[in-house]
Amino acid sequence: MSAPTKRVLLAKPRGYCAGVDRAVITVEKALETYGPPVYVRKEIVHNRHVVETLRERGAVFVDEADEVPEGALVVFSAHGVSPAVHEQAAARNLRTIDATCPLVTKVHFEAKRFAKEDYDILLIGHEGHEEVEGTAGEAPEHVQLVDKAEDVDKVVVRDPSKVIWLSQTTLSVDETMERVDQLRQRFPDLQNPPSDDICYATQNRQVAVKAMAPSCDLVLVVGSQNSSNSKRLVEVALLAGARASHLVDFAHEVQEEWLAGVGTVGVTSGASVPDNLVMDLLAWLAERGYGDVDEVTTADERIAFALPPELRKELKKS
Ligand code: SF4
Repeated sequence: MSAPTKRVLLAKPRGYCAGVDRAVITVEKALETYGPPVYVRKEIVHNRHVVETLRERGAVFVDEADEVPEGALVVFSAHGVSPAVHEQAAARNLRTIDATCPLVTKVHFEAKRFAKEDYDILLIGHEGHEEVEGTAGEAPEHVQLVDKAEDVDKVVVRDPSKVIWLSQTTLSVDETMERVDQLRQRFPDLQNPPSDDICYATQNRQVAVKAMAPSCDLVLVVGSQNSSNSKRLVEVALLAGARASHLVDFAHEVQEEWLAGVGTVGVTSGASVPDNLVMDLLAWLAERGYGDVDEVTTADERIAFALPPELRKELKKS
């Protein structure tokens, strides 16, 4: 049998989204403006390479605001924080820069608004994820988390005619709609969010993977294990017909045996991944005969967000 023709399909859009770009630039500018150390609550974005690079430049990553010395500067990550975290920071006189992605802030506003209108809010998301903790923390007495299918049966609402679902921004679109259908079987009057909570970047990256996966023997997703949107890309690739799919932080993590008998390799990356890591992977693949690269483009992204106002004010002075 002749060897398969080797080629790479490269998904576009992939990699950095507007919220990640803004959060990373925020920490870089804070380091330039104020000098190290700049404290960052949680990983600024869920990517090992990004976090390590910023750490080398003087960012200090902490789990909670109470680990930050009194009066110091702390940046809140792109995933958002609950009001309780803002209160902790204020109690320690911390100077804060909030790098929460505006699309996460939008979901926070929705949670606050529907809690004020006394809805029961069913928040579809992954238990323990920072974003979900931040959103739920806006209205803990109104929000119930729905993660797995079995959670649907555990939901208890006060008035079935006043229930709305919201979601984490980085979920699988299809899996979320499955969960909504299950919830709607229990609560037929369940209301939809006023606009999509799963963000444009998450959706666009999934659409691009779906387009290329049926033609791929293997799909490699560059991203970290704690990156929700990156993990979803692996799942979406498999469901869309890729024979195999793996998540790697770096090219050197790809195992040679994954390429056995593989003709077409699909490549993409999560929303927190700088493109130089994808270029490293393409170079690694080219060394193994996969030098022929075709881009599969499904959307043209031009979204950018302004830096946090606290930082913009400071940058204007300098
Ligand atoms: S993945 Fe979406 S919600 Fe998250 S930072 Fe990027 S744009 Fe914002």
